[in-house]
Amino acid sequence: MSATIIDGKAFAATVREKVAGHVARLKDAHGITPGLAVVLVGEDPASQVYVRNKGKQTLEVGMQSFEHKLPEDTSEADLLALVEKLNADPAVHGILVQLPLPPHMNSDLVINAIDPAKDVDGFHISNVGLLGTGQKSMVPCTPLGCLMMLRDQLGSLSGLNAVVVGRSNIVGKPMAQLLLGDSCTVTIAHSRTKDLPEVCRRADILVAAVGRPEMIPGDWVKPGATVIDVGINRIDAPEKGEGKTRLVGDVAFASAAEVAGAITPVPGGVGPMTIACLLANTVTACCRANGLPEPEGLTA
Ligand code: NAP
Repeated sequence: MSATIIDGKAFAATVREKVAGHVARLKDAHGITPGLAVVLVGEDPASQVYVRNKGKQTLEVGMQSFEHKLPEDTSEADLLALVEKLNADPAVHGILVQLPLPPHMNSDLVINAIDPAKDVDGFHISNVGLLGTGQKSMVPCTPLGCLMMLRDQLGSLSGLNAVVVGRSNIVGKPMAQLLLGDSCTVTIAHSRTKDLPEVCRRADILVAAVGRPEMIPGDWVKPGATVIDVGINRIDAPEKGEGKTRLVGDVAFASAAEVAGAITPVPGGVGPMTIACLLANTVTACCRANGLPEPEGLTA
């Protein structure tokens, strides 16, 4: 293996440390405690784990955590009423409605009911527009985490060829906007892209956000490229015993690590950065709400 392994777990710990420092300063100097409200509707097991982890890490950095768990059959009107209440609550600086919502709810309607200034997931249409036009916005957490790791690894990204595989609203598109904002030459690839291997081989920065286990092999990677693997895929692992599984990314790690200059592993790469960036966004939202300078190094 020749690539540097980008340790997302360690990087996320440094982001959380910075956040905790800002939280302490906000409390000491201004008597303000940043607060994050997380709303979960229903019993989806994966969502329950995410929400639990978010609440735990929110408290660990010294912020207030407000958890709202609503039953699966909650009406859309009741959820919208809760969002309105949180919008009006001065102790709440960030609001996250855990997706997916139950099928009887219109996710777009609910997300766009959140005050954009408190939209720490960065999914509100106003924030999408602000990011797309290069203005100050709340930036989606996973791509923000990828950007932080890329800047840390490479310094300036200016002029580099970046290929983002995947065009989802939560990862691929905002990732491409952020890379463009840092003056990369950006290509967004997707399921209809012709000759994807060739497109990937042009990338100085290759971001994979597809959701297909180990789809990108080492021979699609340009020698020396920086590879960010956003994919989280659970596959069977009979070598670990019957019925066992393991997590892999969208990149075939072993072969890609032979060629790349640097690469994120799965698990332990992008994943841990997502909640760390959620906490960072909450501090940013709190500073903006109070007319205070934004924390350095925690925003795009
Ligand atoms: P998504 O909404 O399903 O989007 C997948 C994208 O991949 C689509 O744009 C799709 O293209 C493209 N695609 C599918 N098959 C392809 C192929 N054969 N060749 C090229 N492109 C292909 O997924 P997502 O929400 O962005 O998530 C992507 C992955 O990241 C998943 O594994 C997810 O679990 C993971 N994820 C991780 C984090 C984290 O915290 N680390 C956060 C979010 C997501 P079309 O648009 O043409 O269909």
